[in-house]
Amino acid sequence: MSKHWVYAFRAGQADGDATMKELLGGKGANLAEMSSLNLPVPPGFTITTEACVHYYKNNSELPEGLVAEVERALAELESTTAKGFGNVDNPLLVSVRSGARASMPGMMDTVLNLGLNDATVDGLAKLTGDERFALDCYRRFITMYSNVVLGVSHHSFEDILDDHKDRLGVSVDTDITAKDWRRVVSDYKDMVKSELGHDFPQDPKDQLWGAVKAVFGSWMNDRAKFYRKMHDIPEDWGTAVNVQSMVFGNMGETSATGVAFTRNPSTGEGVLYGEFLLNAQGEDVVAGIRTPQALTRRAREEMGEKSPSMEESLPDVFAQFKSTVDILERHYRDVQDVEFTVEQGKLFMLQTRNAKRTSKAALKIAVDMAKEGLITSQEALMRVDPGSLDQLLHPMLDPKAEKVIIAKGLPASPGAASGKIVFTADDAVRLSAAGEDVILVRDETSPEDIHGMHAAKAIVTARGGMTSHAAVVARGMGRPCVSGAGEMQIYSDRGEFVARGQTFRHGEVITLDGSTGEIIKGAVRMIEPDFSEDFHQIMAWADEFKRLEVRTNAETPADARTALGFGAKGIGLCRTEHMFFDDERIAAVREMILADDEAGRRKALAKIQPMQQNDFAELFRIMDGLPVTVRLLDPPLHEFLPHTEEDVRIVAEASGVGAEKLYKRTKELSETNPMLGWRGCRLGITFPEIYESQLRAIFHAAVEVQKAGGTPVPEIMHPLVATSQEMVNLTDMTHRIAAEVFTETGTKVAYKTGTMIELPRAALLADKLAQSAEFFSFGTNDLTQTTYGISRDDSGRFLNPYIEKGIFDKDPFVSLDQEGVGALISIASQKGKTTRPDIKMGICGEHGGDPASIAFCHAIGLAYVSCSPYRVPVARLAAAQAAIGSAK
Ligand code: PEP
Ligand code: MG
Repeated sequence: MSKHWVYAFRAGQADGDATMKELLGGKGANLAEMSSLNLPVPPGFTITTEACVHYYKNNSELPEGLVAEVERALAELESTTAKGFGNVDNPLLVSVRSGARASMPGMMDTVLNLGLNDATVDGLAKLTGDERFALDCYRRFITMYSNVVLGVSHHSFEDILDDHKDRLGVSVDTDITAKDWRRVVSDYKDMVKSELGHDFPQDPKDQLWGAVKAVFGSWMNDRAKFYRKMHDIPEDWGTAVNVQSMVFGNMGETSATGVAFTRNPSTGEGVLYGEFLLNAQGEDVVAGIRTPQALTRRAREEMGEKSPSMEESLPDVFAQFKSTVDILERHYRDVQDVEFTVEQGKLFMLQTRNAKRTSKAALKIAVDMAKEGLITSQEALMRVDPGSLDQLLHPMLDPKAEKVIIAKGLPASPGAASGKIVFTADDAVRLSAAGEDVILVRDETSPEDIHGMHAAKAIVTARGGMTSHAAVVARGMGRPCVSGAGEMQIYSDRGEFVARGQTFRHGEVITLDGSTGEIIKGAVRMIEPDFSEDFHQIMAWADEFKRLEVRTNAETPADARTALGFGAKGIGLCRTEHMFFDDERIAAVREMILADDEAGRRKALAKIQPMQQNDFAELFRIMDGLPVTVRLLDPPLHEFLPHTEEDVRIVAEASGVGAEKLYKRTKELSETNPMLGWRGCRLGITFPEIYESQLRAIFHAAVEVQKAGGTPVPEIMHPLVATSQEMVNLTDMTHRIAAEVFTETGTKVAYKTGTMIELPRAALLADKLAQSAEFFSFGTNDLTQTTYGISRDDSGRFLNPYIEKGIFDKDPFVSLDQEGVGALISIASQKGKTTRPDIKMGICGEHGGDPASIAFCHAIGLAYVSCSPYRVPVARLAAAQAAIGSAK
């Protein structure tokens, strides 16, 4: 079949269908589909997106054959409607509208009432018996066409109309008579002529081509370009043009126009929802000049409205409308967002499309439709955006609330909160103890801020990326966090910060939205989360289909319980250094780090070991029968060294070592690149007593729990391993300590030893590591950092410009770089299996909660993902989607 530029549609018959969105645009494809369903659609035709693409590629030339095809479609339209384009007695009028593949509401141009001129306007007047109506249509057409196609500012038209209103002493358009509209129209035309140097086009065909080219042209207007950039819509898609015979909602009290959703798009409730205006054209609903009325009686009563609903004022048409939208919803098997017009008691459908909806509505609608048998449970799962669940689990800003944004940073941990600004962790604790809600504002956070982070409702940092200390800890705690808000200059000593030229002081209220990265002035209204039955239903379906196991990253009993409640099947990463965040413990850890000999370290470790043992025992009890992967200490030193004189004083007191000596030691230990420094297993190998003490605590805890009838499943994990020699050393140590504890206690507990894969070298030599490692856990935070050679702590400042310039698609610390980091993971996983075919592999970096990264983990056959507690539901759903998607 040769290529067509034009696809016609009329009730009962159409050249196109709903699957042809790429060619016909969303609107055109659905008009064709509705026509085929024999629904009341005004007849018309669609000029394809390919014609628009051709137009742009060929210096604004129309493709060959288009004019002839349009002529033919127009002739067909004339015969279907029994009207003539330009016919003085019985004029065919058309609307010309854009319609891209993806909806771009309001971004491109529309012209209504096209085909009117000085002669046809009289024909329309005679035909309708309403001269005023015909002239009103004509003046609207001249305004719209001149503005959209000829580039005349609509202010010029408003000025003329205002002069006439003053002259006539009337204030509203409806008080203007036919005679006076005639004078307005004449002045409009004079003005256009004097501005452009030629008459307003009178030939309907000229008008049509002018409008078609204007719609093509509007694809490249600034609004549309901006919208496309925001929504990732490619520039080369082009728009289709829909030419459709006009129907009029403004032909008296039995005419109307409206918009509707087949279910409530904000709550998901299964009732028709929408509004309409009697005696109006579509544009009037959007323009907000008159207040629209409810469609249904129920909605009107709920709103306490007096003016009658469509159900009451036009009962027959309403009944037809209701059954039409029911057909559409069943046909498309999704909620529809429709536009319609009633012309003198006759219904016309002008548009249908799958409705946009809130996260909450999406969940309810998916579950309801599956229960109604309209879709399958797999389809229901595919219709919920996993990312949106994350929001549903936290309070969020009321989308209707006004907000003044004072700065923006990275959306590091979802949820929203309002509170008073504090600049120190101690202030956060003090004020929150006094019953205040506070937001902790810092340049960056470190372990000594933990108590303040815990006391705060939310955390903002000016520096640091998506895997900075603040981001990781806040996510773990379920606190909203915005990190890397570089536009804020923070002066903690003065108790203020400056953003976009405004100063905010200690105690002033701000709000932050950790899902968008916005920091907002004052308090903003919130919507509380609710764990509806729908949520539990979707999760249950997800578990039926997913193959990946979902574990959590947790180290406190509270986090572990939260994660278990969200369906985690064990702990995939327990960062032991995070267990030292309270004041007493951090002092002991500092004492250990700062000790300058083994005896000093052992003294500090003796304080730490019992605390650790209790912690591990508690985690084993909570996760009874489920794996708990304990990662041995990996403290980036800069996060744990004392920062202030007060910190040093506390350590000096606890250890009995002089402050001066401690200062000296702190200096000695401070590193230029702590992220690449004396971290991870390097610490455990150089100071074996540290890991030995941790291992003792773990095995003693496991024995204790097992003796009490529990089933601990410890997995010992070694961080930042680069060589097989490191792994041999660490595994030997692990087995030796285990054997010692088991002999001491007379009890054996089954355990596994494994490694994190966080360094390219480890990935490339994974076959060797697998000789001693029984499992691999990909630490993709460090693996991303070391693969790119960009610091997880310092990259915040240049990542945004990189994303804006299109050099990075996404922040690689948020969504796995599948091409690079992903290649290393694939290599490691293959090599690991060659040595140990049953090796268990998972991911525990922050990517474990990112849907796209989860799909990747599924595709390469990992066994599990581990993520922060609040992301567990997201991961379960994303894992199900990956399984369903790959089964197709
Ligand atoms: C990682 O590097 O991905 C990881 C999970 O470890 P951490 O974030 O504690 O360095
Ligand atoms: Mg790491």
